[in-house]
Amino acid sequence: MSIFGKSVFGNKATGSIPASALGAGPDAPEPAVRKSDDEWRQELTPEEYHVLRQAGTERPYTGEYVDTHEEGVYQCRACGAELFRSNEKFDSHCGWPSFWAPLADGTVRYIHDRTLGMERVEVRCANCDSHLGHVFAGEGYGTPTDQRYCINSVSLKLVPRGAGGHESA
Ligand SMILES: [Zn+2]
Repeated sequence: MSIFGKSVFGNKATGSIPASALGAGPDAPEPAVRKSDDEWRQELTPEEYHVLRQAGTERPYTGEYVDTHEEGVYQCRACGAELFRSNEKFDSHCGWPSFWAPLADGTVRYIHDRTLGMERVEVRCANCDSHLGHVFAGEGYGTPTDQRYCINSVSLKLVPRGAGGHESA
């Protein structure tokens, strides 16, 4: 009888989590922007890095865009992709910037999130795969979609209308 006969390391139970388990199925498009962890750390502030690259959450009512009503386009803080517009921003009083729709289909992607004992849908930037926040549905806010994209301010950068070189009506 040998304690080495059946190694506890023999099974694969402690292996790394496959991407498919995180919701990124084989059909998920590859993000256009791919950077190493070190590159992201250099480009982002510690708070930005924590939220965008580690799926952190800023404390409610602390973000710079919680009560912002200025017209403009919200870009991804990490890669500059245009993600949301002020047109779809609404006052949810939940403590984070809230939108009822993204700027366009395909600008964000969705990942099933079961952390913290909750069933949630994580929202990421489709262009660089950075964490933005979560989307909730059916809360009765009375918006056209009845969805709430609950997004961290630190994941966004507001480009006021007329300031970013974009054509404005
Ligand atoms: Zn991005």
